[in-house]
Amino acid sequence: MDDEQLLRYSRQILLPQVGIEGQERLRDSHALVVGVGGLGGPAALYLAAAGVGRLTIADPDRVELSNLQRQIALRTADLGRPKVEAARATLRALNPLVEVRALADRLAGAALRACVADADVVLDASDNFATRFDVNCACVDTGTPLVSGAAIRMEGQVAVFHARRGAGPCYRCLYMEQGTEEETCSETGVFAPLVGVIGSLQAAEALRILTGAAAPLQDRLLVVDLAHAQWRTLRIARDPGCPVCGEPG
Ligand SMILES: [Zn+2]
Repeated sequence: MDDEQLLRYSRQILLPQVGIEGQERLRDSHALVVGVGGLGGPAALYLAAAGVGRLTIADPDRVELSNLQRQIALRTADLGRPKVEAARATLRALNPLVEVRALADRLAGAALRACVADADVVLDASDNFATRFDVNCACVDTGTPLVSGAAIRMEGQVAVFHARRGAGPCYRCLYMEQGTEEETCSETGVFAPLVGVIGSLQAAEALRILTGAAAPLQDRLLVVDLAHAQWRTLRIARDPGCPVCGEPG
């Protein structure tokens, strides 16, 4: 790292949990952020600020006025633009040392798998179960750590999975019933700072993983209730019959 990089990241390098070695690991890392709205925006901003060398952001949506109450990587001037283009501009302005690849698609199938295989960590910041299940499958298939986040109304959750076939738990162990009781922020509302709290926690867990440390929320579900300022952590049990991470055959 040159002097400018040492100065830019100096307050983080001072941390015994990071140091020069951890900072160099971040520089050499690639994070995939799926969804760049309420959760993915702050998560990607912190990953970029902290010096993760390569970021891939994927989101099929365009910026709408109702996004701007909470999706802080987007700007009013971005209305109508693809979210990934708007977010890439914000991220590059924050830290031009970070390479940002923007995919204006809903990642699925082989493209998703290739992207996940190329990443050192995946942050699921999407807003629907179909994407969440697809991302989880790709992470289990490739053995890539997954930092999952969700937020609605005044409550959110974060969990980290590092599953392989036969060695769960994975996200699917937590939510077996695909597509049931799906709620959306457009129907029920969402509190602006909640997505910042959850997205920031996702960034924290991802940075722990990328610097080579343990992620405190691995195989645990942190539930954050901002209506009562209460946080609780539950252990996630592996489901031996899970169709994604269960034993083959
Ligand atoms: Zn599973």
